[in-house]
Amino acid sequence: MISLVEAQQIVIGGCEPAAPVLVDCESMSGRVVAQEIVSTEFIPPFANTAVDGFAVRAQDVTTAGVELEVLGVIGAGHVADYEIGAGQAARIMTGAPMPQGADAVVMIEDVTELSKSRVRCNKPAKVGDAIRNIGEDVRAGEVVFKSGSLINAAGIGVLAGINARRVLSYPRLRVAMLSTGDELVIDGSDLKPGQIRESNLTMLAAMISATGCEVINLGIVADDEAVLESKLREVATRCDAVVTSGGVGQGDFDVVKIVLSRIADMKWMQMAIKPAKPFAFGKLTTSDLRVIPIFGLPGNPVSSMISFELLARPALRKMMGHTQNLMRPTVRAVVDAPLKRKQDGKIHFMRVFGEFAEDGRLHIRDTGPQGSHQLAATAQANGLAMVPDGQGLALGAEVEVMMLA
Ligand code: AMP
Ligand code: MG
Repeated sequence: MISLVEAQQIVIGGCEPAAPVLVDCESMSGRVVAQEIVSTEFIPPFANTAVDGFAVRAQDVTTAGVELEVLGVIGAGHVADYEIGAGQAARIMTGAPMPQGADAVVMIEDVTELSKSRVRCNKPAKVGDAIRNIGEDVRAGEVVFKSGSLINAAGIGVLAGINARRVLSYPRLRVAMLSTGDELVIDGSDLKPGQIRESNLTMLAAMISATGCEVINLGIVADDEAVLESKLREVATRCDAVVTSGGVGQGDFDVVKIVLSRIADMKWMQMAIKPAKPFAFGKLTTSDLRVIPIFGLPGNPVSSMISFELLARPALRKMMGHTQNLMRPTVRAVVDAPLKRKQDGKIHFMRVFGEFAEDGRLHIRDTGPQGSHQLAATAQANGLAMVPDGQGLALGAEVEVMMLA
């Protein structure tokens, strides 16, 4: 057996960032930029008012009670064609450009409107009051995003705001997935003796999409070497990575192992973790001479889920240009109900639900039966407690928890 860390070094270390592509800014959410983004524009592009109020000359409003002549109303998107002179003001709405001559805004709450053309300021004004200056948010020439930055929703807003319509970015990977096993049923039909319903593909599709990849779902492939090989060779020409579920153990019908050993450069690993001991990682050279990674997950649903989390997800994130937080964050938590386990030389990833309590600490409980076939308890979990080898953890003990949500 190898440690999880060694396995992660092999898998994550064996994957490299994909070649960057030009992407529309609208599609950049969750993606990583592959170039330095320098703004060519100022945000805001002109000095404007931060409030609804009256644009004034601060020198006219040095005390409370000053009355001014109102020349007109300036709405956002409109430019005044007059200048504010001594004793004058303009009614002005948030975002409207400052008129010539004015150097402060008195907010509407601080004035008394005596008539359409006359206003009394109930507070003195200082130069610059309530004015948003040109370039206060972003300056032309400024590096807005370094290469390697993750673009979130606010980031897309910034890209749109500086008119960066297309940016060089790491691509969304196309990830093909398939499930193997003669026992699996996917079409909702009645189960015949010995059959079970497929659950991994549905789960993995959700996990692959949540990682930011496109899913190519090949469905169930029977435990037949020729069929599996031709499916893998065909899909390799139109995907960037392959995820398989099942057939990586030592069983008689583990055809994934037989076929991948023949057509790809594979490493078959046994990791010192539970669940998800077996894992396969390798590289397949496609007919167009690209080299794509293959992640061979075990078939037991909980093992499939946890090995995707621990190995495939960080590797796919690296391929999509992420350099930070490849792995999920971990939090030191307090055990609120004993976590029982047997000593077996492995780290157990126990499915737990955690909540932050008034003491500011995360308190966890297991979510139910912990077998690698028991997905129901996993569905209730928001974390994986990394329980070290031994007899388990007593009430009040501390444990590191990988947060899933
Ligand atoms: P395997 O890894 O193929 O040896 O499968 C291990 C266990 O997981 C067996 O009990 C399989 O029936 C079950 N299994 C394999 N693939 C799936 C799947 N896609 N959905 C649900 N159970 C599965
Ligand atoms: Mg199988």
